[in-house]
Amino acid sequence: MPLTQQRFPVPPSVAGRVIEAAADPETSVAQIADLIGKDAVLSIQVLKAVNSGAYMLSRAVSRVDRAVALLGTRTVRNLVLTLAVRDLVPARDITGFPLDHFWEASLCRAAAARSIGKLLELENVDELFTLGLCQDVGLLLALRANEKLATQLAAAARRPAQHRYDIERDIARETHAEIGAAMFSQWRFSEEIVEAIRHHHDPVNAPRAHRRRARVALAAEAVADLLVCDDEGVAVEVFSEQMTRLGVFDGREGEVTETLEPLIGEVCGLVERYAEVLGLHISEQPPVETIVARAAEGLATLNLAYLQEANELRFKLELREREARVDPLTQLLNRRGFDEALPREVSQAERQGACVSLLMVDIDHFKSINDNYGHPCGDAALQLLGEVLRDVLRTCDVPCRYGGEEFAVILPFTDVEGGQIAAERVRSAIEARPLRWRGDEVSLRASIGGATIRGQRGERDAQRCLVTSADQALYEAKRGGRNRVCWSESAEQAACG
Ligand code: GH3
Ligand code: MG
Ligand code: MG
Repeated sequence: MPLTQQRFPVPPSVAGRVIEAAADPETSVAQIADLIGKDAVLSIQVLKAVNSGAYMLSRAVSRVDRAVALLGTRTVRNLVLTLAVRDLVPARDITGFPLDHFWEASLCRAAAARSIGKLLELENVDELFTLGLCQDVGLLLALRANEKLATQLAAAARRPAQHRYDIERDIARETHAEIGAAMFSQWRFSEEIVEAIRHHHDPVNAPRAHRRRARVALAAEAVADLLVCDDEGVAVEVFSEQMTRLGVFDGREGEVTETLEPLIGEVCGLVERYAEVLGLHISEQPPVETIVARAAEGLATLNLAYLQEANELRFKLELREREARVDPLTQLLNRRGFDEALPREVSQAERQGACVSLLMVDIDHFKSINDNYGHPCGDAALQLLGEVLRDVLRTCDVPCRYGGEEFAVILPFTDVEGGQIAAERVRSAIEARPLRWRGDEVSLRASIGGATIRGQRGERDAQRCLVTSADQALYEAKRGGRNRVCWSESAEQAACG
């Protein structure tokens, strides 16, 4: 029977209940303390934790409820969880495998996942501690069932995670990621943790919703490798790749070591604290600087091709984003770009109690340009209009191709007077720059409708008012004989009086 389908050992009942209860934000400190109080060994562990040097209390704490209050329910949950998983597989069941080393690495993974989560400003970094702690626990179950695997992995205990994972896939039917996911799913861990465990060696294949946590887990694995393995190069490579894909790194020189130094410091501190509490034997750690220096050496030999690849990918994404908002003919913002820019400018005005104006610019008798000179000439006229707008407007103004031969211009921080000056400048510049088309001079004219609001009504209302008022003013300009500017009275009176 595949290991993923077996019945897994369950956590000791009290521990299981504490883990479950503490995951619920409604649970009170008193309830957790009550649960812990039911188990003498657990009570002692929690008291030991709070009285360990890590918390530097002036007086010893002897009551569990006080200890829980001091540690916080989340720390207590992680503590209880760590105890529960540690007792899951008795050492005697796995001969020859360096269990102490395994738990030390697990604590490193837990602390690293938590620290990386903090770096990414993720919510609930304590969940990430749980993830890091549990992500490799499936391995213990695999070892118990497969002696050959135990022997080979014992020999490779100090090799990087990827290497161990390859051995596992060669020898065993299932990997520790799958086994762990199955077990913690039976322990009723959240889907977030279970799926991150399942995919922590192949984040690329994780469902979108779980990919980020899977990447954090893999990066944490790499940090643990830096501390306990013998090949820093591979560890740094995995770490850098995942941090890049998480958007933390962008290939800048020095960022890997700059990030690693505080990260490793934090991880070592947390690991020591937990090890003391759990009575784990932790091997003597070299100073943080030494570890970081070794990481830097690994980095020097690192193949940076993937960083380049990630940068290219990001560039392509940005390009695609840009393309979606830019009109290819005029290189101005398109309608979608306008629809995003307008609320931004209106809310800015609203916050500052400032005015914002909008121009609607429509080429006069544009149809006849198309009819007389052909469509390519019409296109050239639109391009020219784009250029004129860019030339005569301020850089903070936002010209857009609203649709067809109609343009819209957002004028931030511009009142009626300023808006009218800008509009007239646009109109006369269009008139003054005829289009040269195959030896002909095609004169262009445009009608402009403008409106101004002072941000002091609801934003949505303001946007709608601005667009319809400028549109009406444009209609007035057309009716009044074209090649002119008309300004909306209604928008001013309604909002900018
Ligand atoms: P008015 O002075 O009343 O604005 O007259 P008009 O001819 O400009 O107005 P109308 O809205 O009737 O015609 C607009 C024309 O613009 C019709 C359409 O074929 C043309 N048009 C819209 N988009 C493009 C484009 O991308 N390229 C070209 N060449 N023509 C376009
Ligand atoms: Mg027109
Ligand atoms: Mg038109």
